[in-house]
Amino acid sequence: MENHAAKSNFIREIIDRDQDCGKFGGRVHTRFPPEPNGYLHIGHAKSICLNCGLARDYAGKFNLRFDDTNPSKEDQEYVDSIIEDVRWLGGDFQDRLLFASDYFQAMYDWAMALVKKGKAYVCDLGPEEIRRHRGTPTEPGKDSPFRGRSIEENADLFERMKKGEFPDGSRTLRARIDMAHPNLNMRDPVMYRILRAEHHRQGSAWCIYPMYDWAHGLEDSIENITHSICTLEFENHRPLYDWFLDALGIYHPQQLEFARLNLSNTVLSKRKLLELVRDKHVSGWDDPRMPTISGLRRRGYTPSSIRDFCEEIGVAKFNSIVDLRVLENAIRNELNKTASRVMAVLRPLKVVIDNYPQDGVEELDAVNNPEEPAAGTRKLPFCREIYIEQDDFREIPPKKFFRMTPGREVRLRYAYIVRCEKAVKDASGNITEVRCVYDPATRGGDAPDGRKIKGAIHWVSARHGFAAQVRLYDALFARRAPEEVEEGRDYKENLNNGSLEVLKNARCEPGLKHAAAGARYQFERLGYFFADPKDSKPGAPVFNRTVTLKDTWAKIEQNEKQA
Ligand code: ATP
Ligand code: MG
Repeated sequence: MENHAAKSNFIREIIDRDQDCGKFGGRVHTRFPPEPNGYLHIGHAKSICLNCGLARDYAGKFNLRFDDTNPSKEDQEYVDSIIEDVRWLGGDFQDRLLFASDYFQAMYDWAMALVKKGKAYVCDLGPEEIRRHRGTPTEPGKDSPFRGRSIEENADLFERMKKGEFPDGSRTLRARIDMAHPNLNMRDPVMYRILRAEHHRQGSAWCIYPMYDWAHGLEDSIENITHSICTLEFENHRPLYDWFLDALGIYHPQQLEFARLNLSNTVLSKRKLLELVRDKHVSGWDDPRMPTISGLRRRGYTPSSIRDFCEEIGVAKFNSIVDLRVLENAIRNELNKTASRVMAVLRPLKVVIDNYPQDGVEELDAVNNPEEPAAGTRKLPFCREIYIEQDDFREIPPKKFFRMTPGREVRLRYAYIVRCEKAVKDASGNITEVRCVYDPATRGGDAPDGRKIKGAIHWVSARHGFAAQVRLYDALFARRAPEEVEEGRDYKENLNNGSLEVLKNARCEPGLKHAAAGARYQFERLGYFFADPKDSKPGAPVFNRTVTLKDTWAKIEQNEKQA
């Protein structure tokens, strides 16, 4: 992960104190432990950037570890996508690509050790009965009738659970802690369940699978993790994390909790994202509207913009919702510096320049990136017929409309000042084209007599440009907090029907014809666009709008409404 000047936060302060007092011998070793049951999203990016950034700044290590202990929902496709996404983000796990399922034997042996210490027992209660015995935050739970089994009987039954002698769900192994403990997680939690399911790496080698709380601390301990960083929901699981490691007397990492990322106008639960994919509300996990890493990548986000975003939002101990605009600003700021400017017209309107020579063509100089003089200039062909944006013409202009309108002058960027004469209409009154005259003395766009022209619009030569598909996106959900719904309602009712607009006939300047898949541009006045790596073909790019520009036109329109 590239070097940023990282802001301090409470986790860094804890690590600084640990360093000062020599805890963990000055080591810092973090991990990112995804369950391979979905694609990674921007919340995971926060965790990756945090963990990986700590390893980088404290000269430590960072592991990518799959927490693949629940075979029923896991899949190799997810493993592959997660590895790709972590690498793409710059998460440097070196050779430490690890799988919790590789520790199944060690976990089993440790469970047996707890059985032999009298700290775990085999329980024959079903899931429903276990729940009923558990009590509530205000009432103590009830001991399982199987809690008193002898060590010998427990050891024998647990071994036979592993051998596959009992049906699925018929028995569990539970920690013997305290059924009256004020923390419900400590009321004899289940450590193993019986489940015959094909594991993506272990096949059918196991028919008992460890529960998260039992497994996670062991995984951290085996890998010599120092700071095991997780989200706040796990704060009241920490006593159990500690209890297991202390009961075993093995190396004991420190669990630390931080607030998960919540992003406005989207959902960040893998279960819900899976539902959107499965029910075809989006085209896949990498739909450019998805908050997944693969979706953001396909939208045109860069790894550095996502890292900047994670740095910007910081790490805290309380939950909040981050506005989608903070994410959009991160990519906009970067692309403003790096993206080449080009001209494209999304909704074309033909303009004929009546006094321009029929077959005349000129090559005009256009600046590639005003933020980056070294990017130089390019030649833009100009001729008698061009396309402009439909929005840039109004027959009857509202107040403060400085674009094209009959009787007034407007500047065609990098080309000429033109005066609009009239709109040509078809039988039903639709504008089919606009007629203009140009001032030959204004080549490049400046008036030698210094007369003031307020508006400058973009254009594409009708003869030289080409048609391309362009896709515009809006937030996937119309509501800021789509998951906050009334009883009986579904968060999917908050999906934004206008989140995707496909324009099939956009016109692009000729140089874009061979845009490399994955190339990024600023379409002048329209935003930043990305040549879609999946749908672009050689000579036929398809563009996704990554983000709009800070839109001065929207401001004008707003002023109009107020006026
Ligand atoms: P689910 O969405 O199904 O609850 P999860 O988000 O917990 O799953 P994991 O694969 O277990 O998915 O997450 C891997 C790591 O990413 C965990 O350490 C978790 O704390 C962290 N993480 C998950 N979601 C967020 C989030 N929104 N913000 C920050 N970190 C997150
Ligand atoms: Mg999880």
